[in-house]
Amino acid sequence: MKKTTCLACQGQDASFFTQKNGCDVFLCRECGLIFVWPVPENHFALYEEDYFSGAKNELGYADYESDREILGGTFKKYLKKTEAILPRKGKLLDVGAATGHFLELARKNGWEASGIEISKYAAKKARKKGLEIAVGDFENHEFSENCFDAVTFWDVLEHFGKPDLAFKQARKILRTGGILAINTPDSRSVLARIFGKRWHAIVPPNHLNLFNCDNLKAVLEKNGFEVMKISRVGKKFSLQTVFKVLANWQENPVSRKISNYFLKSRMGRINFYLNLRDNIFLIARKK
Ligand SMILES: [Zn+2]
Repeated sequence: MKKTTCLACQGQDASFFTQKNGCDVFLCRECGLIFVWPVPENHFALYEEDYFSGAKNELGYADYESDREILGGTFKKYLKKTEAILPRKGKLLDVGAATGHFLELARKNGWEASGIEISKYAAKKARKKGLEIAVGDFENHEFSENCFDAVTFWDVLEHFGKPDLAFKQARKILRTGGILAINTPDSRSVLARIFGKRWHAIVPPNHLNLFNCDNLKAVLEKNGFEVMKISRVGKKFSLQTVFKVLANWQENPVSRKISNYFLKSRMGRINFYLNLRDNIFLIARKK
């Protein structure tokens, strides 16, 4: 059986879990991290136009730009929870800012917000709205040190090939007492346990790691953070997204047909709030 070192706890008991989309997925028997190894070299190439409009790419968003309203509800909730911990609004960096929905909201709420985004396509869209956004990978980008009050990882931690580097970078650029706010799928949620290898969040090479509450807290503490809040929150979903997830999960032509129908139909835009309890929300403070 293939084995490798765990990316979160550095334990030696991570063994082969499943293979999907040409990637080997491992599960750490010590801390429960699910991760892709080796990290595919060209995985950044995923995040071009297709990823955000989803016509061809089954891994990405149905239509990120017009999901604005749906995402907006989730982002409002995240921002409110962040401000409850850090009421003083200062400099904020949104990592994986995409087309800038969260940046717009944060600015409206009085933050001096900027972003970084791997996709040139998405960053260009954000800039057209007058938003400040850098293009590149967060882990290796040159930022001023100790200068941000808040760094946000919304739906982004699971995309890092080497999450440890992202935590180190966040620590470096935050001022002491500044916060890192994260949401990410929970690999120890009931849903993840029921679906096992078919859990909808196991979608390499899009998702490269899947944490749980315990190992995420441990890895942050190891990197000089103190966890202030950890909970599981729901998200708003559109019918398009739900049927796309089902189709990817079931892997049969009938559910793919249904999914394609909802992608094209206005009905697919119907959205609702759902707490599947498999989405971790965490706020940590730089010590
Ligand atoms: Zn581990």
